[in-house]
Amino acid sequence: MSTILDLHSHSEASEDSRAPLEAYLNWLKLRRTERPVDGIVLTEHRQFNKNADYRALEDKFGVLVLKASEVETDYGHMLVFGVTDEMTSRFDFANVHLPAQAVIDEIARMGGVVIPCHPGRPNVGLFEHYSKKPSLENVVAVEVYNGGSRKGEDERSQQHRCRGIKGGENGCNIEPTAMCCKDEEYSR
Ligand SMILES: [Zn+2]
Ligand SMILES: [Zn+2]
Repeated sequence: MSTILDLHSHSEASEDSRAPLEAYLNWLKLRRTERPVDGIVLTEHRQFNKNADYRALEDKFGVLVLKASEVETDYGHMLVFGVTDEMTSRFDFANVHLPAQAVIDEIARMGGVVIPCHPGRPNVGLFEHYSKKPSLENVVAVEVYNGGSRKGEDERSQQHRCRGIKGGENGCNIEPTAMCCKDEEYSR
């Protein structure tokens, strides 16, 4: 049995959210038959809300609400999953110039996973940085589909043939279905 998660979403805590969390969870609940999403991961910008408790909302809407972060690095934005106190002590998540290679390597050593998001986006995406600087090592996957992407951004991501995930980014304007991908083959 598989679990389908939207691995990239924001609540009101992230300033560019267009969909308050409750509205998004309700949207998922109402569309359960056509889009059987089991849960979402709140990847709040430049922060980790350690003490946020979403249990009441999980019960109300029947959707898992997990917590992660989206940090900003010298190679663009990256999702950090499995955030621990050790990670937030080591890195200042509010720093918009975190050193990407150190983030990837050290977070992996601490038991987390770092995934560059919207990598085809100008300025804040990984691949624009690759055109100016050496590629990073140990990138386990990138976000190949993003609900907030403009035309061409996801296509650019997919050209790089990385392992990929899919993130809704914000909610109601997207089709949030987590992807589990192997090299060049993307499968739902
Ligand atoms: Zn971002
Ligand atoms: Zn985001």
